[in-house]
Amino acid sequence: MADCIVASEKTKYGPKQVDLDRCVHCGLCLNACPTYRELGLEMDSPRGRVYQMVQVAEGAPMSPSYLEHIGLCLACRGCETACPSGVQYGRLVEAARAEIEANTTRPWHARLFRRFIFGHLLQSPRTMTFLGALLYLYEASGLQKLVRGMGFLKLLGRLGELEPLSPPAESPFFFRHIGKTFPAEGTRRYRVAFLAGCIANVSFARLNEATVRVLQKNGCDVVLPDGQGCCGALHVHAGLPEDARTLAKRNIDAFLAGEFDAIITNAAGCGSTLKEYGELLEDDAAYAEKAHRFSKLMKDVTEFLASIPLRPPVEPLNATVTYQDSCHLAHGQKVRTAPRKLLTAVPGLEFREMPFSDICCGSAGIYNVVQNEMAMQILERKMESVNRTGASIIATANPGCILQLRAGARMHGSGQRVMHVIEVLDEAYAASRRR
Ligand code: SF4
Ligand code: SF4
Repeated sequence: MADCIVASEKTKYGPKQVDLDRCVHCGLCLNACPTYRELGLEMDSPRGRVYQMVQVAEGAPMSPSYLEHIGLCLACRGCETACPSGVQYGRLVEAARAEIEANTTRPWHARLFRRFIFGHLLQSPRTMTFLGALLYLYEASGLQKLVRGMGFLKLLGRLGELEPLSPPAESPFFFRHIGKTFPAEGTRRYRVAFLAGCIANVSFARLNEATVRVLQKNGCDVVLPDGQGCCGALHVHAGLPEDARTLAKRNIDAFLAGEFDAIITNAAGCGSTLKEYGELLEDDAAYAEKAHRFSKLMKDVTEFLASIPLRPPVEPLNATVTYQDSCHLAHGQKVRTAPRKLLTAVPGLEFREMPFSDICCGSAGIYNVVQNEMAMQILERKMESVNRTGASIIATANPGCILQLRAGARMHGSGQRVMHVIEVLDEAYAASRRR
């Protein structure tokens, strides 16, 4: 954001005064904020950021300093949980970013890049498949090992530092299952729809398959409706609400065409936005009611499974596990006990609570790419907490967190496995099947 050319003209996108007014500047949110914990600067705290938004709302220009402090926010919403006055900070920062975006002229190459990522790549299964295949070749051919081993990444500077955070390509990709229905194992108890995400079809194909299996195991017919796609969460976080609305409408049409007990996601970051489609489309006469209906059906997979009588795995999984709360599950959706309930339902698995488990790991969508230095600082601190538990598995509930924590386990850990809660369950069911 530092290269932005800024205008002070206000737009329809800025934070609403009524939302800003809720903050009474008490400061009770400060210690819940990862950037404040790292930097100790008021301007990088939730209270400080709200104060800066108020100044802009009152006519101050959006200065480079404003862009920097808003840009450094993880949008993790830890402050929302801590705030006794009900400040909806997530909504504020999304609106502030949309306002910045609408008043910003980026250099042509940055605009082109953003257009490619947000306007094309995330929306095109064909392009994702093509790039995923190239990535798969890079990894499977041994070229990745060679590049890493020979220190080429150092020559690429910042780009080289980001390479270890890049998502893997898991062939065969999950796109091939879209449009199919997977029948329940045993008696059918529920009929659910599964939203498989966008990049997750390439980078978390095995996790998506595990999710389907675990749902089947628990008596669900699992439908993958045709026409589904990217949820728009990354667009919302990048200040592109119009693009997000277009994507939301596409998903609403695809999923409301069928009758389901729930619509399931395994990505907490997506789930948070999917549950807020109602808000995103509240001014759209044709979609407002449908968006609310859609959001009411949305469930994180851990939330859904914890709400039904779980068919517990039989065979013990002898390991120790700790759980890192995904911000958009704990703070965005207020789902905390469900993943823990599932992990403690696995026989033989010893659960060890981690200190500060609901402080962000630094992943935060594409934050670890665009704010790499701060993300790595936060990750190092997170791994200190993980290591203190002595657990051999780090479980979490969001693909982005998995990538970040895998990098953390490699750089600062002790070889911990990093898994989605659903993968832990899937492994336990598989052990039971082998018995
Ligand atoms: S956001 Fe909430 S907790 Fe933080 S200063 Fe404002 S009122 Fe207090
Ligand atoms: S969203 Fe997270 S990083 Fe941003 S101000 Fe709140 S606690 Fe801090």
